[in-house]
Amino acid sequence: MTSPGAARLKELDREHHLHPFTDFKALGEEGSRIIVDAEGVYIQDADGHRILDGMAGLWCVNLGYGRQELVDAASEQLTQLPYYNNFFKTTHPPAVELAETLCRLAPAHMNRVFFTGSGSEANDTVLRMVRRYWALKGQPEKQWIIGRENGYHGSTVAGMSLGGMAPMHEQGGPCVPGITHIRQPYWFGEGRDQTPEAFGRACAEALEARIQELGSDKVAAFIAEPVQGAGGAIIPPDSYWPAIKEVLERHQILLVVDEVICGFGRLGEWFGSVHYDLKPDLMPIAKGLSSGYLPIGGVLVGDRVAETLIDEGGEFYHGFTYSGHPVCAAVALKNLELMQAEGVVERVRDDLGPYLATRWKSLESHPLIGEARSLGLIGALEIVADKDSGKRFDKSLAVGNLCRDICFETGLVMRSVGDTMVISPPLVISHDEIDELVRLAREALDETL
Ligand code: PLP
Repeated sequence: MTSPGAARLKELDREHHLHPFTDFKALGEEGSRIIVDAEGVYIQDADGHRILDGMAGLWCVNLGYGRQELVDAASEQLTQLPYYNNFFKTTHPPAVELAETLCRLAPAHMNRVFFTGSGSEANDTVLRMVRRYWALKGQPEKQWIIGRENGYHGSTVAGMSLGGMAPMHEQGGPCVPGITHIRQPYWFGEGRDQTPEAFGRACAEALEARIQELGSDKVAAFIAEPVQGAGGAIIPPDSYWPAIKEVLERHQILLVVDEVICGFGRLGEWFGSVHYDLKPDLMPIAKGLSSGYLPIGGVLVGDRVAETLIDEGGEFYHGFTYSGHPVCAAVALKNLELMQAEGVVERVRDDLGPYLATRWKSLESHPLIGEARSLGLIGALEIVADKDSGKRFDKSLAVGNLCRDICFETGLVMRSVGDTMVISPPLVISHDEIDELVRLAREALDETL
């Protein structure tokens, strides 16, 4: 039953509020679901439904909801110094301490961080840093950046241009020039005529071919997520990253690893780059950095890029009012402290990830599921019309969205990317809650059928 207060909010929402990534007309009679409260891994809506948040908000509430320590960190910093910037020659303790902590947790060759307010701003920063780096190295013609189809790097103009989401490219005018995309390592969707290993190598060959086409002296960087998140939790075959690394090293092309989702424990290491043994030149970060409690992002910068920018670059004309905002930085710092003290990352690697993997895999027995894959605490289900051939349902049926809506009704947030269902729960989820998540997913699939 919708309370009068909630009904009024829904009405106001419909009248005044434009939601991100939403077909506004599709809100229908029912209107939006209004989330009013949250604790642990559960959110609660204004109609009193308790829902297991299988997406950790938007892949970000890694420590779960209701952590008083994070509230206290924000409140203390708001009292002490609510705002000051990091421009010119000023800074403040939370920004400095957070920078030091991040560089300690990051791969050894990453010793500098540039703060932003979000993952999109981080990727705008990446684009400018990469091109600036090559200009300073005396190779200004090294301009091209290669991304991947269906990759996601944000919604600013640079972010969406680096990303490979075709529907985004079609709206709002031209993309930033000098960016091109190669195929994604999506074995289930695009590579099942080969073994995963052969397909992973074929994707790296596509990178090699594109570099040859553009001329390696024209290519500045390759950008990719360790596991593609918004594209559908696409876990690359084991052969993929080693082969990609080899190509980039041979052609002296910078590697940008977008850790906005995979960073901060999602794959069972502090960074996805550690899991895949990558040595990125730049790592955009956000989301789990503050467990989503306040907006903050950044770019971790490897030594070879940082040294060039610092030693040869002079002033870098780039920065945001909220770069390293003190309250956001204080919350991020506390978040990282808690994650270390509670061994959150190790628990994902040694316990929760393997536990989810077994339970999640059991969904492959469902008649609608062609593949159930997971790594750490990110997972996907491929809904198919025919298990043997992997044939999909007709797009017009929007089966994934149907399943997502049923999940919401029965008490689970699971996201749909076409007919791929995706989860990315808080990293503090318990075994019992994983069992509940898997049970609710199975029940929703039963209803979808
Ligand atoms: N990069 C990746 C991999 C993301 O998943 C996202 C957001 O989902 C972004 C960048 C953009 O981050 P934000 O939404 O904080 O701008």
